[in-house]
Parts: sequence; structure tokens; C-alpha cells
Amino acid sequence: MTSISDLPIRDELRGEQPYGAPQLDVPVQLNTNENPYPPSAAVVAAIAAAAAEAATSLNRYPDRECRALREDLASYLSDETGVPLTADQLWPANGSNEIMLQLLQAFGGPGRTALSFAPTYSMYPEYARDSHTRWVAGRRAEDFSLDLAEASRLITDVRPDVIFLASPNNPTGTALPADDIATLLELAPGMVIVDEAYAEFRRPGVPSACEQLAGHPRLVVTRTMSKAFALAGGRLGYLAADPAVVDAVRIVRLPYHLSAVSQATARAALAHRAELLGNVEKLRAERDRTVDWLREQGFQVADSDANFVLFGTFADRHAVWQGLVERGVLIREVGPPGWLRVSIGTEAELQAFRTALTQVREERA
Ligand code: PMP
Repeated sequence: MTSISDLPIRDELRGEQPYGAPQLDVPVQLNTNENPYPPSAAVVAAIAAAAAEAATSLNRYPDRECRALREDLASYLSDETGVPLTADQLWPANGSNEIMLQLLQAFGGPGRTALSFAPTYSMYPEYARDSHTRWVAGRRAEDFSLDLAEASRLITDVRPDVIFLASPNNPTGTALPADDIATLLELAPGMVIVDEAYAEFRRPGVPSACEQLAGHPRLVVTRTMSKAFALAGGRLGYLAADPAVVDAVRIVRLPYHLSAVSQATARAALAHRAELLGNVEKLRAERDRTVDWLREQGFQVADSDANFVLFGTFADRHAVWQGLVERGVLIREVGPPGWLRVSIGTEAELQAFRTALTQVREERA
């Protein structure tokens, strides 16, 4: 049988594994920051009708410029952030993963450098590898906030072409203050990408980086419908930026990258946003309750503006993770050594998590 190593694969891909959290078949899945609430029958019917309508012209290529969807996204994001945005500032793709790869294809590449601050989203170095962009990771402060002195030193040293800032950050849940983003925009010689995949879960008073788009043509804010919108299976991410950034990305995107069915699905979901986003408030409350409970148990817990919580620390986090799996609860072994991350599920799922964690702890005491 032929294996990868028999093939003339790029040297830097030798020995690499495909990215992805374990997809184990256990009853309580709290490991990939999904929204636990499936779409209602009414939303399913609306999406099915929109897909059926799109199917009537599947012999034709879809709208390459995704114009109608970009109008809808601009309307949604303007409402959500209070920042007036137009369709020419919006650009969608198959998940924000694809958006970020497109951004590196346009602004990274051979001889160029991308910078971020760890612990952060573990796909960033993979996008860099895949686009032949040099990858540099600085460190966040002990409390997972951005260490501006360290960031400034690295930006001066490295002169990054692209900076990735996740806010709220995965896996820590930490949102960046507007002032930190403003400071980095001053210091950065290239593009600054603020990844707001989890923004809809932020606590009251935490601003979106969209507020800083005006006057900053090198700022890109990325979002996704995978989390708050409960549309992870729909694969729809997007960016908001100066129209010139959209024009740059349009040069590298594959022709017809977003299928007619994807565009129709996303538009139907956006039309039902009140309902799809209806559970965000519940998830936020459950998040805050989870943080409080973990703290009461004596764990260290990172403040979270997202739909997950990072907690620890454990001398043997793998054993704790395994103990939870054995009790039917799957969380994620990710982040700095000793920490674990739990996604916010339904009340019943979190009850199962609390019970299992208590048992694992007693067993190991
Ligand atoms: N950014 C961050 C910080 C994430 O955690 C994720 C998903 N886990 C993504 C981007 C990508 O999400 P998607 O491709 O589903 O939009």
C-alpha cells in the first residue's frame, strides 16, 4: 500500500497530521464550541425551501460575487455592531477558515511573516504553513491578555506582514480591549486581522473591532455563522474591511468558491436571525454560571467572552479528559499545559459535565 511518505509531498508536510479535534461518539459533546441548539422546524423548512429554489438553476455557476448574500451580511453586521457597513466591505467564504487562508494568500506568502500571540487558535500556524508564510508566535500575559510591551517588541523585530488577533480568543475566551487593538493598528506595518468568530457571545460593554474599521484600511474583522448562528454545518464565514481588502481577496479566491446552495442557506439563516441567535443569551448565562461553578470548586478559570471556558490546572490533564470521556462527556484538551476547555452546551449537558468532573476529581483525590 502506498503511504504519504512514498509520494513527492512538500517537505514541510511530511509527518503532519490533518487538523481536528477527536470526533468521538459520546452523548455529551462539548469539544468544538458548537451551538448545542439545532435549528427549529421552521428554520429547517426555510433553509430547505431556499436550497430547493437554488437547485432549480444548479446547471449554472453561482453568483461569483455573492452580491445578495453580501447585502444581507452587511445589514446583519451593521445591526449587530452599530457600525454602518456596506456590501462592498463584506466578503463571504466557506467558513472563516477559508477567509483566513484567502487573506494569507493575498497578504502573506513566501518571504512574508505572520505573527500572533499564544495561546491562540491552533489553525493560524497551519494557514501560514499552507500559504508558505513564515510563522512567529509571541506570548500572551499570564492572564491571557495581550502583553503590549512584548507585542510592540516583536512587531519591531519581526515587521509582520499580517497579525492575527483572536477576540474573543480561542482557547482562552479573552476579548481584547479596543485600546489594545488601536495600539497594534498604530504599530503594525501590515495587515491586522481581528478574528471575531465568537463575538456575539461577548459580555455587555465589550466593543467589536468593526468600530475601528473607519480610517483603518489595513484592519480586517472576520466573523463566522458557525457559532452564535448555529450554522457550523453550513460553512459560512466572512470578513468586514475596507472595499480595497475585498478587492485584494477577490484576486486569490477560487472562481465560484461559494456554492449556490451555501449562499442560499446562509441567506435563509440570516433572514431567521432573530430565532437562530435567540439562544445566545441563554448560552451566555450558562457560560457565566459555568465560570462561577468552576471557581467555587477552586479551579483557575479564565474570564470568558465566548461560548467556552478554559479551566485548570491539572497535573495530568489527559487523565482528567479521559475520565470525562469514560463518563460520556467529551471536552477539549487544548491550551497551555494543565488546562482544559469546555464548550457551553445545554443546561442538561453542563449538568452532566459538572457531575462527571466532580466524580473524576473525587476518584483522583
Ligand atoms: N476562528 C476561531 C478563533 C475559531 O475558534 C474557529 C473555529 N473553531 C474559526 C475561526 C473557524 O471557524 P469556521 O471556519 O467554522 O468559520
